[in-house]
Amino acid sequence: MATEFFKNPAHRCIRFDDLTEKGDVQANQYLIIDDGRGMVLDPGGAKQFGSLIVDLAAHLPTENLDYIFLSHQDPDVGAGLNGFLLMTSAKLCVSAIWERFIPSFTSKSIAAHRLISIPDEGTRLKLGNAELLVVPAHFLHSPGTFQVYDPISKTLFSGDLGASFFPRDPGTQSVTDFDAHLQYMTAFHRRYMASNKACVRWAAMVRSLDIERMAPQHGAMLEGKPLVNRFIEWITHLQCGVDLYG
Ligand code: FE
Repeated sequence: MATEFFKNPAHRCIRFDDLTEKGDVQANQYLIIDDGRGMVLDPGGAKQFGSLIVDLAAHLPTENLDYIFLSHQDPDVGAGLNGFLLMTSAKLCVSAIWERFIPSFTSKSIAAHRLISIPDEGTRLKLGNAELLVVPAHFLHSPGTFQVYDPISKTLFSGDLGASFFPRDPGTQSVTDFDAHLQYMTAFHRRYMASNKACVRWAAMVRSLDIERMAPQHGAMLEGKPLVNRFIEWITHLQCGVDLYG
């Protein structure tokens, strides 16, 4: 289902949560539109491409898509890239350390001159009349991970950080009780996130941002500052990844 979770006259944010085949790991795709120009975030694998390109076109002419953003290198983030690059003239935004692997998703000639290589410290991207911040979240979980902060909707598009995995039909669930929600997040974050040190650094950085919601690549969004702050506090104390070697 496509859900428009932010809208003002010039700016919109839309989430697609049901394009994953049953039995596969559920994933969300996001579309940010400002002044008629668009960015799609983590468009997903080849299985999502056909449905997503149709769904996107219902909100924005395909030729107005300016950016395809990949938070990291995983196949559920960008394996469907070839279709998007063929069907649009959008630029591809990806970590400098993953750039060399893009030819595994598409041919070099298709991606040539369309790559925005994101340096480790992040960058700013102009979308329509808006400016989006691309902020680092390295080792959470990939060594080259970026998130997008949209200062207009005050949304942090957080990639795998904040992801949750429900036993079934997860997409539309919204979190009201953070403690009850932990059962859907904990195992994933403990295994996939690299270390508490990476979590603490990320938390220190995002505390300077005015975040109303976190929109992860999997599962439910965390809506409202109290839940976002609970997440930041929780991840600050999480022992994960190599910490678990003791
Ligand atoms: Fe991932």
